[in-house]
Amino acid sequence: MPFDSATDYPMRLSVDEARRRIVDLCGQRRVAVDSVPLDRALRRVLAVDIAAPHPIPPFANSAMDGYALRGADLPREGEKRFALVGVMLAGTDATLRVREDECVRITTGAPLPDGADTVVIKERVRVDGDAIVVPAGDAAGANVRPAGEDVAAGETVAHAGEILGAAQLGVIASCGFASVRVARRPRVALLVTGDELVPPGEPLGFGRIHDSNRYSLGGLLEGLGIVADPSAHVRDDVGALRDALRAVAATCDVVISSGGVSAGEADYLPRLIAELGRIDFWKVRMKPGHPVLCGEIGKAIVFGLPGNPVSSLATFLALVKPGLMAMQGADAASPSWRARLTVPLRKKHDRTEYLRARLDCGDDAVLRATPVERQGSGMMAGVAEADALIVIPEQTHALGEGDVVDVILLPDAC
Ligand code: AMP
Ligand code: MG
Repeated sequence: MPFDSATDYPMRLSVDEARRRIVDLCGQRRVAVDSVPLDRALRRVLAVDIAAPHPIPPFANSAMDGYALRGADLPREGEKRFALVGVMLAGTDATLRVREDECVRITTGAPLPDGADTVVIKERVRVDGDAIVVPAGDAAGANVRPAGEDVAAGETVAHAGEILGAAQLGVIASCGFASVRVARRPRVALLVTGDELVPPGEPLGFGRIHDSNRYSLGGLLEGLGIVADPSAHVRDDVGALRDALRAVAATCDVVISSGGVSAGEADYLPRLIAELGRIDFWKVRMKPGHPVLCGEIGKAIVFGLPGNPVSSLATFLALVKPGLMAMQGADAASPSWRARLTVPLRKKHDRTEYLRARLDCGDDAVLRATPVERQGSGMMAGVAEADALIVIPEQTHALGEGDVVDVILLPDAC
């Protein structure tokens, strides 16, 4: 009897249903919170809101190299002399004062002297001994960055659940924080299954192929800032698979396997996951990626991804990634982009289809998607030459040239 004929779990879910279940399941398995130095925090998920303890910038300062003076003293026509009464460089802790028709030479980032509210850039000024000559035409208040111009004291500059990018690290550093509370990285094991697989670097025997999923899935994980545990290659052998699953499920938060999840005779993953734990669902109405499975073994969530290279990539992006994000308390939604098709498309099935496509944006600023030739689920070169996956919804069977489609950007934007 085939394994899937007696089920007590949902089968053939829509992508949305499957994703919802995964996000729920992973959301219940939130990882702990870590405090990490700011220079280790890139791509981590922030665990708390961060409020600025002081205004940014903390004091009114010059936006340019020039001369600080009182805007009310500027000439309305002709030109005017200002007595130079001192110099303030960025980093100075001396405070000067400018009075009527006086100025202070100032550099970018230096605090404004008392009384000054305007900086005239040095290129507009003629120096004449201990004075400068300023022509008419400058605006009062120009070239000054007021205290709090960027961020007000107490303002929230980053929110719990945000993924920290370079700009977020910069703004948190501007607040003066040297470390930040983030979700611990989920510990992920990658199990690559298949008797036919040979590691790159070794010669192929008859009937063998090089293992590519270890690198593409490993790369997708690294794109999320997760370095998988050293991955294991497991043979299509029930005992070896059982031992490997047991071992990694005992130490990891998430187990991602590739291959062996269909209903073929050497596809042992589903029955082993049912034996060692629980299947949450099996098979999703998507193409490629239909045989994907989600389950649990002990405390670990197990994603059984199909071995076909494009299927494993598509299921990772559509399902695994939202799960890993939910586990870290991050918003699971991927940025969604839309593009216009350059060719008509037809689809005969009722599954969500992910087509590999090139994107380009013409002078008219319209983003266009063109499917690549290589669309087979084993054709990784088709992904490598693509910029995005076009998403064709279940019930859409025909699309015309110029129709708008959703696209998922590849690979780093994902
Ligand atoms: P499976 O899901 O195990 O039935 O495998 C489906 C197809 O994907 C087969 O043609 C496998 O040879 C291929 N495949 C499985 N695992 C990998 C891998 N790690 N790298 C490249 N191809 C794979
Ligand atoms: Mg296999």
